[in-house]
Amino acid sequence: LNPNIMEFLKETVGEDQVASKLIDLISYSCDASVFRHRPDVVVYATTTEQVSAILKMANRERIPVTPRGAGTNLAGEVVPARGGIALDMSRMDRILEISLEDRIAVVQPGVVYADLNKRLALHGFVFPPDPSSGIVATIGGNVATNAGGVRASKYGVTMGYVRGLEVVLPSGEVMRAGGRVLKTSSGFNLTQLFVGSEGTLGVITEVILKIDPKPTETCTAMATFPRLTDAGRAVSQIMRSGAIPSVLEIVEKTCIKAINQRTPLNLPEVEAILLAETDGFVKEDALFQMNKIVDIFRANGAMEVKWAESAEQAQALWKARKSSFPVVSSLNNTTFAEDITVPLSKVPDMLQALEELGSKYNLIFPTVGHMGDGNLHPHFSYDRTNPDEVERVTQAEKELYRAAIELGGTLSGEHGIGLAKAAFMPLEHDPVAMATMRSLKKMFDPNNILNPGKMNLEAASDV
Ligand SMILES: Cc1cc2nc3c(=O)[nH]c(=O)nc-3n(C[C@H](O)[C@H](O)[C@H](O)COP(=O)(O)OP(=O)(O)OC[C@H]3O[C@@H](n4cnc5c(N)ncnc54)[C@H](O)[C@@H]3O)c2cc1C
Repeated sequence: LNPNIMEFLKETVGEDQVASKLIDLISYSCDASVFRHRPDVVVYATTTEQVSAILKMANRERIPVTPRGAGTNLAGEVVPARGGIALDMSRMDRILEISLEDRIAVVQPGVVYADLNKRLALHGFVFPPDPSSGIVATIGGNVATNAGGVRASKYGVTMGYVRGLEVVLPSGEVMRAGGRVLKTSSGFNLTQLFVGSEGTLGVITEVILKIDPKPTETCTAMATFPRLTDAGRAVSQIMRSGAIPSVLEIVEKTCIKAINQRTPLNLPEVEAILLAETDGFVKEDALFQMNKIVDIFRANGAMEVKWAESAEQAQALWKARKSSFPVVSSLNNTTFAEDITVPLSKVPDMLQALEELGSKYNLIFPTVGHMGDGNLHPHFSYDRTNPDEVERVTQAEKELYRAAIELGGTLSGEHGIGLAKAAFMPLEHDPVAMATMRSLKKMFDPNNILNPGKMNLEAASDV
């Protein structure tokens, strides 16, 4: 970047909020994906006015800007693919207001998910999406990726809670969308347009979130299934039974094997383990629902059903599910978590397709998934120094996406598109939908400065 621009940035945010040493640029070249590209400079914003001034200048000078929260996304969404400014929003981290009367929290985008929930818990409230990365991921990142988690089958994902936003547009203009009301039918829903937009349309500088009372009672149970088809049928019956599990997770056999190789958990080597949780405000409610679920487990050939009698026992049951990501990450030098989501009725077909892909390409896909909403995380674990294996992974990945789309599914249930799945967007979205997304991008960001290269939003002339 030319020295005048560096000078401008330092004057705008302060000398100590601009970093350009090699170590800084390398740190900001990556996220939790396999992609890498360095920015030219890292800037830490602390006010909306600063973000506005930076975007105005960047728009004039045609400098790419990549907004960033904690950098935990799994799809290359904050890798500055065209260099320019890495705009770190994590220092805008104040909880501005918690209003129990209005049932909302007003926060800056850099607030960490778990920190907000710690504060809300003091009042018996919660912001429920619960991504597993919640102890570090920011609310800005959650909104920009429409994050979800293990409780989404009952409580939904981030989009259900975002009521209002302050956003700085690429022109530097500040826009407020939505507000403190819990519902509105007034005009286009501009707020939701930014949910899941991955920092490509504007920089979020304030978020108004709906908050919920936190259920006080939970029941947890785990069941092992010698046959995957039985587990699939159990899930299908549970979801039609009237019980609403707050958690319904699967750990399949490849993942169970990997967990047994790397931990002392000594799980039964069955085809599938299902973990269920129910919740409520009185114990009887959670119990009533869990009784239904456990009956369905048993009626569908569960070999063993364990019901937690205490919080400690519940934690022990969670261990298999929680250890899956660290275990799978340790299997080889490269791992990435896929995020395909299919209609509930198609989950068994998707699991079957995964098994076939594994045999065809001689790969393993340790898989966990949110069975209550059809979101599966098969993990590709491979040796990136082996060109033959890389080629097989590339082919298998393409077929995986095609299979999910053919089953009526989506490329991503919660992680987003970024660089990882950009090329595959037209598989899922028809030409009219793709053209509409690209014209929206062009309208908000005519000079293509905000997070360029992501989500396949560019017309050939922008590249
Ligand atoms: C171990 C692990 C477990 C995970 N588990 C889950 C899970 O259960 N559920 C889930 O949904 N995700 C999960 N993720 C993915 C990731 O944590 C989420 O996508 C999270 O919401 C990203 O938050 P972040 O603050 O790290 O955002 P970043 O990774 O920094 O950014 C993500 C996107 O948001 C944009 N962005 C960030 N801040 C702003 C802003 N202020 N304005 C505009 N755009 C912005 C960025 O440009 C980027 O496109 C997991 C990741 C890891 C590593």
